[in-house]
Amino acid sequence: MIVRAPAKVNLRLGVGPLRDDGYHDLVNVFHAVSLFDEVVVEPADRLAVEVERMPGARVDVGQVPCDDRNLAVRAARLVAARLGVEPAVALRIRKAIPVAGGMAGGSADAAAALLACARLWDDPATPILDRAALLGLAAEIGSDVPFALVGGTAVGLGRGERLTAVAANGPFHWVFATADGGLSTPAVYAECDRLRAAGAVDAVWPHDAGDLYAALESGDADVLGAALGNDLEAAALSLRPALGATLDAGKRAGALGALVSGSGPTCAFLAADAGHAERVAEALAAEDTVAAAVPAAGPAPGAAVVRPAADR
Ligand code: ATP
Repeated sequence: MIVRAPAKVNLRLGVGPLRDDGYHDLVNVFHAVSLFDEVVVEPADRLAVEVERMPGARVDVGQVPCDDRNLAVRAARLVAARLGVEPAVALRIRKAIPVAGGMAGGSADAAAALLACARLWDDPATPILDRAALLGLAAEIGSDVPFALVGGTAVGLGRGERLTAVAANGPFHWVFATADGGLSTPAVYAECDRLRAAGAVDAVWPHDAGDLYAALESGDADVLGAALGNDLEAAALSLRPALGATLDAGKRAGALGALVSGSGPTCAFLAADAGHAERVAEALAAEDTVAAAVPAAGPAPGAAVVRPAADR
């Protein structure tokens, strides 16, 4: 069984004050893009995981844990426990999504493993893990995992896991500029709290994303470009000032919108069409601060079976 799952970019990330449970309330508008990790799942004697680079992709898979810290492994164990079976599968994760890049690659792998293991072990006639149950397991693994199952464009409230679909008249054409070395999501949130406590940035909460929803519905890339926003951007730039040069380079190349994706360090650039995205990617690839510039389109579908084992 091969399942692929998409990367996400946050079109708007409104971050509320720190809650007592250590999380922040979010208004998190996710948009899935056509940059996919694949998880190949095969029955085996015991649970095993391997991580490799998707051919042609420039990702540093050396940072990805190959033990129970891997989110796909956690997903396989959760599905097995829920269905009362042994988690006897070999997981091969083929990564194209940047690691620790703010595009939720680990969450995509978890969503793919959830779907694959449910297909492998559940009874299709009387499934225990219907869509709602799978979404529940996804939220147990992490705030970004439910969205990787669903795909498209959606707003996540709470920690980002309470999802509602958002109407979007795409396609929208993007370029993602990756950077060497990741950024830790908790470190970026901590820096955001620090900057707010120091009065260096304002926290505007509650967050109104009405202008973004209107832009998405209009399908107009110019309007969408002006409506993008990320409350974590100042923190990501504070920890990685070189991202400022990347954002400037994309704007100089004519991007209609430019922002840090999630907690970074990947930067996202909105283009007018596919040809424009190719040109923006070419300009970005020449920058010292950019490791790779990858065009992709959104909204993309959520986790889906690519090729069942019987077809191979
Ligand atoms: P997000 O945007 O959801 O905060 P991210 O895109 O910045 O996440 P990920 O690539 O999802 O970052 O991974 C962050 C960390 O999670 C990695 O540094 C790695 O240690 C760990 N991790 C666990 N499982 C995986 C996986 N399958 N792929 C990548 N990283 C994983």
